[in-house]
Amino acid sequence: MHKPALPQEGSDTFNDQVRIVLVETSHSGNIGAVARAMKNMGLGNLWLVNPASFPDEASYARSAGASDVLDRAQVVATLDDALADCVLVMGTSARGRKVPWPVIAPPQAAATAGEYSRQGRVALVFGRENHGLSNDELQRCHYHIHIPSNPDYSSLNLAMAVQVVCYELRMHYLRSLEEGEASPNLEAMVGPGDRGWDVPPAEVQEVEGFFGHLEQVLVDVDFHRRNNPRQLMTRLRRLFQRARLDQMEINILRGILTSVQKAAGTLPGSDKQKNTADEGQEKGHV
Ligand code: SAH
Repeated sequence: MHKPALPQEGSDTFNDQVRIVLVETSHSGNIGAVARAMKNMGLGNLWLVNPASFPDEASYARSAGASDVLDRAQVVATLDDALADCVLVMGTSARGRKVPWPVIAPPQAAATAGEYSRQGRVALVFGRENHGLSNDELQRCHYHIHIPSNPDYSSLNLAMAVQVVCYELRMHYLRSLEEGEASPNLEAMVGPGDRGWDVPPAEVQEVEGFFGHLEQVLVDVDFHRRNNPRQLMTRLRRLFQRARLDQMEINILRGILTSVQKAAGTLPGSDKQKNTADEGQEKGHV
């Protein structure tokens, strides 16, 4: 059934702020099929992390009429580059992990993306055709989206997984257009993605700066050994990602870490030492 385009189609906050990120895709035809799946669902921001081949004939052939999405695709070298300015990151995987990450189903993922898209950019990350996302990559995410497929045959084709998630985003978006603005009195406010929170959510680059600083301090005070990590940083990362830090909270935490370094006599600069983990220290923390 054909329906006329919606007035806000493609130009509203939600669709502008949401980005689909493909990590090291090996078959460029899949990139084209992803572009098509996205455009069908009204999305257009495609980021490619180190694709095996792009742009090329196979990607354009499979994109059908969505070549504009490919024309505008951003190609970057690392996942960090694709996520740096985002406030919410959700990674997709068919597999559970040894240290389980908070799992969310596609409809809830779409609703959460909708909330956060009012505050900043939201990334949805998809893995390689042959072995998906690594643990490190999934741990860059706030949530692990699992499409509840057949447990005995759980892995979807990349573009089909993108289609399912983008369909849920579209369903959420269309419902929100029809329902209009919810009453502020009925909305929960539990974190920095929610309307009414006093400080904006931290961007990925700020949170990553904090994790680097935290790890350095834990090494400085001999709590953490890089050659015997025992998943310490993974578990701390999960803890802080669950808290959904805002920008002021990051500044406070980094200020605390700097004070610990001063007390321990390990503050870089005091002895002309170079701290590789930390770029934000000079920024003046709370
Ligand atoms: N063999 C890979 C799966 C690759 S499928 C593995 O073992 O992880 C390619 C990508 O599609 C995955 O990295 C993921 O981003 C997405 N995907 C496939 N099936 C999925 C599912 N059931 N739930 C969530 N994402 C899925």
